[in-house]
This record gives sequence, C-alpha cells and structure tokens, in this order.
Amino acid sequence: MDMNMELTNLLDLQGVQVESKDISEEAIVFNLTISAKGMYCPHSHYTEELHQVRPILVRDLAAFGKPVYLNLPRRQFYCRICQRYFTEHLDFIDYRRKYTQRYEVSIYSQVNNLGVEQVSQQEKLNIEQVKNIFNHVQHKQQSQQITSALKPCSKY
Ligand SMILES: [Zn+2]
Repeated sequence: MDMNMELTNLLDLQGVQVESKDISEEAIVFNLTISAKGMYCPHSHYTEELHQVRPILVRDLAAFGKPVYLNLPRRQFYCRICQRYFTEHLDFIDYRRKYTQRYEVSIYSQVNNLGVEQVSQQEKLNIEQVKNIFNHVQHKQQSQQITSALKPCSKY
C-alpha cells in the first residue's frame, strides 16, 4: 500500500483521496481529490458535466500538535434536465462551512469545557469564529432533537 493510500485510510473521510501533503512549521495540509466522477442534483438526476472547480481550504482536526487543513476542490456541475448548476455537497462538511463536521463538534465540546477565549487561543481561531462554530453545532443539535421528537418511530 502506498503512502497516500495509507494517509487516505488514516484521514477516514468518505469519498476523498489524499494526493499529496504539505508539512510546514505552522500546519499540515492534505491535498485531496474527490473519488466520484459526478453527482446527483437535488432532483436525483445524475450528471458528470463539470462546470467549475474552485479550491477551498477546510480546517480539520489537529494532528501532532499542528493544525490540519484539507485542500479540496469545490465542484459545480450542470444538470441538463434541470438546466441549472449545482454545487457538490460532501458528507463531512456542512453547507458553506469551512470546517469539517468533526472539527466543529470538537470545538463545540471544547467550548463547553474551557470557554470561548481559551479555545480561541488554543486553536488560533478568533473569538467570532469560535462563537460561530459553537452556534452552528448547537443549532444543528437542536433541530435534530426536534426532528427526532416529531418522528418517534424512526430508526432508534
Ligand atoms: Zn436535475
């Protein structure tokens, strides 16, 4: 098994592969590609018509005392049936967020234990970013609780 494949397994995120990594004093950056050739639009039409690709930098859980960033392509596809452009959604990042879900959950529980200011210093995020992540996760958990309360016979 080659090194990048091992890093892909270690990273443990669905649907992406590690192509390379950049390690500096300040951070570790994993350069990722997306395995899927195409996507399903919100109306369940499959398309491989790639319209636009923009690189985005997404913060993930720290490793070896260094912040970790994922360098990912944000892809936009064209659906011929809908005649519209749709941005691909990745399971491990919420819509328009710049952090992985697992990073946001970790910030949320750190804030509960340590408070906003200490987390801000430790993670080198500014206060507003920490509050924003905290509120995002809290809001999500609340709406999940409401959803499961409305559907008592779901999978649980
Ligand atoms: Zn469509």
